[in-house]
Amino acid sequence: MNDSNTPMIDPFGRMVSYLRVSVTDRCDFRCVYCMAENMTFLPRKDLLSLEELDRLCTAFIDKGVKKLRLTGGEPLVRKNIMQLIEGLSRHLDSGKLEELTLTTNGSQLPKYAQQLADCGVKRVNVSLDTLDPDKFHEITRWGHLQQVYDGLAAAKTAGLQVKINAVALKDVNEHEIEPMLKWAHGEGYDLTLIETMPLGEIDGDRVDQYLPLSTVRERLSENYTLTDIPYKTGGPARYVEIKETGGRLGFITPMTHNFCESCNRVRVTCTGTLFMCLGQEDAADLREPLRASESNEALSQAIDDAILRKPKGHDFIIDRDKIAPSVGRHMSMTGG
Ligand code: SAM
Ligand code: SF4
Repeated sequence: MNDSNTPMIDPFGRMVSYLRVSVTDRCDFRCVYCMAENMTFLPRKDLLSLEELDRLCTAFIDKGVKKLRLTGGEPLVRKNIMQLIEGLSRHLDSGKLEELTLTTNGSQLPKYAQQLADCGVKRVNVSLDTLDPDKFHEITRWGHLQQVYDGLAAAKTAGLQVKINAVALKDVNEHEIEPMLKWAHGEGYDLTLIETMPLGEIDGDRVDQYLPLSTVRERLSENYTLTDIPYKTGGPARYVEIKETGGRLGFITPMTHNFCESCNRVRVTCTGTLFMCLGQEDAADLREPLRASESNEALSQAIDDAILRKPKGHDFIIDRDKIAPSVGRHMSMTGG
């Protein structure tokens, strides 16, 4: 009989304590590096219900997950999302879960920031790649910068800590990184830069978008003093402190620096597919064992079996000879 409280330890001795759950594949934006403009979304019947998502997250929490991040698509466009978040907050109250958080594009924060804070959410990651309204609209296709500013203001009022995530895009925002750094630190936000990853077919060419963060760091070092610091948020970012602003800057470098050796994460999609690595295709279906019985025994066994297949690492490559993306699914499926 499977013990549904067994901790999840992979073949490389890494303990899985961080779960990212994509609660929807839908979004109110269409960012150029993330989605094609006319995306086909999943039929609703394939989605886990909010009750199923709660059961699934709870099974992972019973198996040692301490940090839970909801993502998407845009997590806050999932219908009745607060019902799920309110329910999951019981694990914060019991002390089993240390952090419940989410990654959002910010557009729905005016509506939800206070409710999130009331549920024990302390921090949110808000994705924002530019402070130029026209460029913002170009990147997100459907988004307006003011929506995000309003969301950030609502987060501040609700007392939520904010980290800004920006994807570094060659020719698009590469010359805005310094102004963004000053702005974010001036507002009291950490800023994390992310390299574009080759996930899913998009309309443009990723080779044209790819900007190694080693280059960004070198450029910033010309005007700023960057000091490596051991600060960790449970994710893959490596942080530096910027002397001149007094703020923190994180680098997520899946392309130039493999961070897999300390990976403590797995991801579940809104259809209940478990991905043991963002950069690999191997996956396990958890929806079937979840729906097969009301007990969590089969589900827990399926999770244990999958964790034993967690690969050592990913191997993203972006080059001109390789036409297809390294991984066929879009980021909106696993949520980053
Ligand atoms: N909609 C929410 C948002 O934008 O924050 C959550 C989901 S979104 C897929 C999560 C993060 O993935 C965002 O910060 C986004 O910028 C990033 N992202 C999307 N596609 C990416 C790609 N191909 N490479 C790197 N980051 C990507
Ligand atoms: Fe939507 Fe986030 Fe993807 Fe942009 S990055 S299209 S906001 S899911």
